[in-house]
Amino acid sequence: MDDCIFCQIIEGKIPSKKVYEDEYVYAFHDISPAAPTHVLVIPKKHISSLMELKEEDHTVIGKIMMAIQNIAREFELDERGFRVVNNVGEEGGQTVFHLHFHLLGGRTMTWPPG
Ligand code: 5GP
Ligand code: ZN
Repeated sequence: MDDCIFCQIIEGKIPSKKVYEDEYVYAFHDISPAAPTHVLVIPKKHISSLMELKEEDHTVIGKIMMAIQNIAREFELDERGFRVVNNVGEEGGQTVFHLHFHLLGGRTMTWPPG
């Protein structure tokens, strides 16, 4: 997807601070961190949102979850805890339409009040 910023990040056309990469998954620091640790974990395949996920994508979702677990351990968040967020669509607050999971940690999280 030529006009997708996350596809361009995966291809190295837009620079990013890489945290992890494998055959299926790419992870990098959010450009505008909302917590001391704020990593975005994305599939290399362009999937625009959770609603576009297909049955055949179950492998990549498993890989993403295992990557999140490993990154959390690497950033020493496993003992203290952390949050994983996936925003879906306009009311969900999704601004980039390439599936991504936010890994947020390093501070106490509060439940959305609104
Ligand atoms: P969303 O609001 O769609 O759930 O999250 C999109 C996230 O992508 C935001 O937290 C935003 O800061 C991050 N983001 C947007 N553009 C870029 C970029 O070019 N590089 C990086 N590293 N993060 C980005
Ligand atoms: Zn994309």
